[in-house]
Amino acid sequence: ERQPEQHAFEADVSRLLHMMVHSVYSDKDVFLRELISNAADACEKLRYESISRPQLSTDGAQPEIRVTLNDEASTLVVEDNGIGMSRDEMIDALGTIARSGTRAFMERLEAAKAGEKAELIGQFGVGFYSSFMVADKVDVISRRAGEEQAWKWSSDGKGSYEIVAVDLSEAPVTGTRVVLHLMDDAKKYTSKWTVEKIIRDQSGHVPVPIRLAEKEGAEASQVTDGAALWTKPKSEISKQDYDDFYRGVSGQYDEPLTNIHFRAEGRHEYTALAFIPGSQPFDLFDADRHGRMKLYVKRVFITDEAELLPRYLRFVRGIVDTSDLPLNISREMIQDSPILAAIRKGVTSRVLTALEKMGEGDAETFGKFWDLFGAIVKEGIYDDFERRSQLLKLSRFRSTASNEATRSLADYLRDMKEGQSAIYYITGLSLDQLNASPQLEGFRAKGIEVLLLTDSVDSFWTTNARDFEGKPFKSITQGLSDLDDIAGNDEGGGDKHEASPEVAAFIDFARGFLGQEVADVRVSGRLTESAVCLVASEHGPDRQLEKILQGAGR
Ligand code: ADP
Ligand code: MG
Repeated sequence: ERQPEQHAFEADVSRLLHMMVHSVYSDKDVFLRELISNAADACEKLRYESISRPQLSTDGAQPEIRVTLNDEASTLVVEDNGIGMSRDEMIDALGTIARSGTRAFMERLEAAKAGEKAELIGQFGVGFYSSFMVADKVDVISRRAGEEQAWKWSSDGKGSYEIVAVDLSEAPVTGTRVVLHLMDDAKKYTSKWTVEKIIRDQSGHVPVPIRLAEKEGAEASQVTDGAALWTKPKSEISKQDYDDFYRGVSGQYDEPLTNIHFRAEGRHEYTALAFIPGSQPFDLFDADRHGRMKLYVKRVFITDEAELLPRYLRFVRGIVDTSDLPLNISREMIQDSPILAAIRKGVTSRVLTALEKMGEGDAETFGKFWDLFGAIVKEGIYDDFERRSQLLKLSRFRSTASNEATRSLADYLRDMKEGQSAIYYITGLSLDQLNASPQLEGFRAKGIEVLLLTDSVDSFWTTNARDFEGKPFKSITQGLSDLDDIAGNDEGGGDKHEASPEVAAFIDFARGFLGQEVADVRVSGRLTESAVCLVASEHGPDRQLEKILQGAGR
């Protein structure tokens, strides 16, 4: 009978372990992600080592990760056919926190073959211990590729672990089997439905196929196929592949309008695959409206809360996968990471450039896009000072020249009248209301285009977007009209008219009658049919914004 060797964890490990299990990850589901990513690492390592030592991969078996549940025994098993661990490697890798076997492997790798990069997931030695968030005992049975002896490591994750040699019949042919004896409050991890969902959500794009069996001996069904779509060259990806991937990643069932798939190299290395949806996501106008782009580190899902795009692009769905960040990056690190800030900037630029190109080359698709998401993009004119002119250039408007939202500001500038120096607009609730507005009469008479803005965001960006290519935005419901200065095709006029004595008398009467209700009563040439119209003062909110602010109780 073999006697297990008792080992105490390296000094501080148990303290660290306690801290880590209770604070590093708030979401317990991630233990599975950690085990799966270790298993995938192990498969990648074997893949790499058997390049130089083909005898290691004995039967040429395809790399595979198998998850087996056992409701009665209350266990969850993660098994791989990867590189495995020798006794010393177990002591080294599982008894020590600060030193990660993966990191040692990486160092060796770099020393051996500069330039060659195996795709190794973790770089920090904390992942494995997350098993103790859900298990009160963990067994690791492993046989290193090319070795005759298999070993079993067991621990309750408190102060010590033991190691014992086991018969080959009890071990994987090569590779590692991790057995979690689940705590009472972690029983849900024996439910196939639950575990399958976690695997799909967290590890759906791990580069090794994952199979799941409901109980020991039961047939294992494939949950993921091990292919990370975004790593393939574009030429090998069909539209169907992209669409399926989009549906998986977005949880939406429509057909995306387009995708933006690129690999950034140089200072930062990442791959992005982003989609412009073909319909409005249901939560587009939610108060809690952040984006849903997923962050991967070396194909391991990290979070969908990394705000990889600004809020005004929150409808974009997809992933960013980078090799520049550690796998166990925390929320705080994500918020402050300069690497992520650079990635965010890069992805934002690429998305906007792609949309610009679409606007130039494919008016029909762009029109669909703008109808769906234009109102969201315009939030950026208000929010994102740096990209304001780019966003204005992207924007399309309805106007007195076209009641479809197809007019760009470039179109507007091109068609300006001689002597016209401003971009005129009017904001309101609906196109009908605006089209009927008396303020438009003089502009129509002179053939001067006026933008008809009906989204509530329009009342906001027009307050801080001063101009486009040097031409100021000017509300026609505000201040004096300068129609007199513009050469038009009719006799509509501005506000610089002399009042006749009769009119002057009427104005005096009106001022007295309306009293505090209005700031002033003036003669205007901006009307051609109506007798009067209301105008807001030159400075301060325009009429529509006044209404919105009143509605908001301000
Ligand atoms: P990391 O993956 O960041 O290195 P972990 O705590 O997740 O840290 O794992 C510690 C080490 O244990 C790994 O680096 C690896 O050497 C070893 N290990 C864990 N799981 C496996 C496995 N399934 N196969 C082979 N080695 C493993
Ligand atoms: Mg790991």
